[in-house]
Amino acid sequence: MSAAIDDRAAGAVLGTAAGDALGAGYEFGPALPDGTEVSMIGGGPFDWEPGEWTDDTSMAIPLLEVAARGGVFNDQDLDVVAGRWLEWSVDAKDVGNQTRAALDAARQVGTAEALRSAAREQARRTGRSGGNGSLMRTAPLALAFLHDEGELVVAARRVSELTHADPDAGDACVLWCCAIRHAVLTGELDLRRGLRHVREPRRSIWSDWIAAAKRMQPRDIQQSGWVVGALQAAWSAITNGSRPVDVLERAVRGGGDTDTVAAIAGGLIGAVHGASAFPARWTLEVHGWPGLRSDDLTALAVAAAAASLGRVAPTPERGLLEAVRILHDRGYEALRARFVFGGAGYWRCVLSVDAGGAQRDLLRYSNAAGWDVLSDGRGEPVPSSALADRLERLEGLDAAQHPDPAYRFWFAALLEHCGPDRLPSLDDDWSHPELEGRVALTGAGGSGRLADSFPLPPGQHRPS
Ligand SMILES: [Mg+2]
Repeated sequence: MSAAIDDRAAGAVLGTAAGDALGAGYEFGPALPDGTEVSMIGGGPFDWEPGEWTDDTSMAIPLLEVAARGGVFNDQDLDVVAGRWLEWSVDAKDVGNQTRAALDAARQVGTAEALRSAAREQARRTGRSGGNGSLMRTAPLALAFLHDEGELVVAARRVSELTHADPDAGDACVLWCCAIRHAVLTGELDLRRGLRHVREPRRSIWSDWIAAAKRMQPRDIQQSGWVVGALQAAWSAITNGSRPVDVLERAVRGGGDTDTVAAIAGGLIGAVHGASAFPARWTLEVHGWPGLRSDDLTALAVAAAAASLGRVAPTPERGLLEAVRILHDRGYEALRARFVFGGAGYWRCVLSVDAGGAQRDLLRYSNAAGWDVLSDGRGEPVPSSALADRLERLEGLDAAQHPDPAYRFWFAALLEHCGPDRLPSLDDDWSHPELEGRVALTGAGGSGRLADSFPLPPGQHRPS
């Protein structure tokens, strides 16, 4: 099922970026009590814009770019990565200590080998090189090697060693990458899967570290910049949490290195649940170096997955349909339907409303994951089975079966918004004078013509 794999591949990258941007404003702050609201506030010690990702995601981008063009992380690819990191670091607001030292030492030569030697030399001199800086950026590697776990293990270590010589850092990248790869392919969460690629006695030590993390909350795990603490805090957030929003909020409430812990957690939990599980309030906000947004991350991630699985690299098409007025409910200023097309048949849509100054997701749908968390627009979740039931009961309407998924989506969104008790009034609502009678829904067996009748805003094109 390539659409499901594409969704989860996009989720691994979007999760990294969303966790990073969510944690950015809380970096080095104290742990927060359970239930404290956290959001993409920006600010923090490096004065981030709301929704802006930090060094964690920025350093992952060159890896993603290489993966998206089918690179296999050979010497040539690694030189490209080194070059992009050097380029980024010139104006970067924040660069981790170990990474900064390696980049500065290698700046004249500018190759991967120069970086690697600088990292080794730093480890020899200081005896400390097990920072979390290689783990935080590692997620895109998994997408480049969906076809082969063994090759992924080799690449994960090689890329880690560009800046971090310590085997702890390499092991952590191997474990996390193997878990992300497995999640993208299957939707299952299994961190222990990668242990087979770590030699004893380190394998047993890692096994204990993983088990210990599950028994703690993120706030109980000290964040000194050590890669093991970061992995443990991320794993704690994942195993004590549930879906992406809960997991990333937990990671941030743990305090300390919030952006990095949440970025790491986001890479894995996003790979399990897919990009369609992320709310619009995050996906519309996230952005960062080199001038990318969430749609760009999706396109790159899907291209990477396609390349590694030998599929034809898709040409992503993106559509943004905004400000569709719901005429019968003036309480909402706008209903936004945002479509993201990842190629290879994958698409997802988030439909959200602006209500009372806040943005709320009404419905999320992807052709990979089906209906996701649903809301009635007032913050109340609706079980997806309820909507499926409603759709089934209305299957006689053309709109519910229209071949264009966008129109089925809109149709379902309207049903959800109105609620079953208001269905009898739908026909009246859609015959509103402002629609000039262009919508005719007359019930099962009738002449539903939503696809023809629901006009697109000026200047917008129909997604195909
Ligand atoms: Mg950071």
